[in-house]
Amino acid sequence: MCIRDSAYISESLCVGCGICVKKCPFDAIKIINLPKSLNSQTTHRYGPNSFKLHRLPMPRPGQVLGLVGINGIGKSTALKIMSARLKPNLGRFDDHVGWDEILAYFRGSELQNYFTRILEEDLRAVMKPQCVHGLCVYKPETKR
Ligand code: SF4
Repeated sequence: MCIRDSAYISESLCVGCGICVKKCPFDAIKIINLPKSLNSQTTHRYGPNSFKLHRLPMPRPGQVLGLVGINGIGKSTALKIMSARLKPNLGRFDDHVGWDEILAYFRGSELQNYFTRILEEDLRAVMKPQCVHGLCVYKPETKR
């Protein structure tokens, strides 16, 4: 564990021994061991020690695509990226990643064409709000 502005686990130094998990009085640390194969094909990462999204679903014209999974698995992040509300950083959360690089990363896949069409506004993605209780309630005017 390193100390910067706040406690921080150095991913390159941590060997996953679990001592900090047992010693932390606040139960603030969890270690999730990921398979080595998940060190590649990172689409987005929010920051150090945080969630990583690998790959993206591939929408196809004329087909319905469903995303199913437990909370925290990346469905919302994938949808934000697919709707271009969130620019994927390819795992480099501390770097600027431009759309040219993103399109090059997806070159040869249907996602390259998909994002090109989204950026050229030839295709529009619409997301249904997830928290409907936070929406304004429509109240029709009462007639006098
Ligand atoms: S799991 Fe072990 S090596 Fe990793 S940060 Fe905690 S105490 Fe350090």
